[in-house]
Amino acid sequence: MGELITLQGSEQGFVTTRVNDLLGWARKYSLFAYPFVTACCGMEFMALASPRFDISRFGAEAPRFSPRQADLLWVVGTISQRQAPVLRRIYEQMMEPKWVLAFGTCASTGGFYDNYTTVAGIDKLVPTDVYIPGCPPRPEAVIDGLLLLQDKIASGDRTPGVVKPREDPVSRDLVPLRKKREGAPTGRTS
Ligand code: SF4
Repeated sequence: MGELITLQGSEQGFVTTRVNDLLGWARKYSLFAYPFVTACCGMEFMALASPRFDISRFGAEAPRFSPRQADLLWVVGTISQRQAPVLRRIYEQMMEPKWVLAFGTCASTGGFYDNYTTVAGIDKLVPTDVYIPGCPPRPEAVIDGLLLLQDKIASGDRTPGVVKPREDPVSRDLVPLRKKREGAPTGRTS
C-alpha cells in the first residue's frame, strides 16, 4: 500500500511513495528467529537448516537466543501449562513488529494431548500468524508456512493462515490403494 507523505509547512500531500511495500519486502527477507523448541517436532526443525532444505534461501535462518533481538517466534512442539507463562514472557520481550509460527499439530492445537497439562494451541497465549499442521510437519510444509508468512509480512496481512497439504491425501493414499485392491487376486476358486 502506498503512503502519502506531507512535508511540514505544506497544506497538502504531494508525493506518493511505496514505503510500506519497501519495508514489507525488507522485513520478509530479514527475519530473526527465536526457536522455542520443546518436543519431537524439533527433529524436523533441525532438518530445515540442513543443506537439503536450506532455510537460509529464504532469509530466515539466523537464530537469536535473546527475544529482544528476534522478530519471528517459532513455537516447535507441545506446550505444557507450566511452560505457558514462559512462552508468553518471551513473546512480550520480542521487538515489534513480530510474528509467530505454530510448528506442528501440538503447537497449533495441542495435538492428541487432550488433557489438563497441555495448552490446546499456542493461540491461547500469543497471537499466531501461521499454523503448520503435521505430526511432525514435513520440512516442505514448514517452508510453505514460512513463504505464507512472508507473503503476509509483505502485504501487511495479520489474519491467521493455515498451511494446506501440497497433495490431496485422498488421491495420494486411497486411490492407489483402491487400484491395488481391484487388481489383486481375490483368492476365490470359482
Ligand atoms: S506434533 Fe507430533 S512430532 Fe510434533 S511435538 Fe507434537 S507429538 Fe511431537
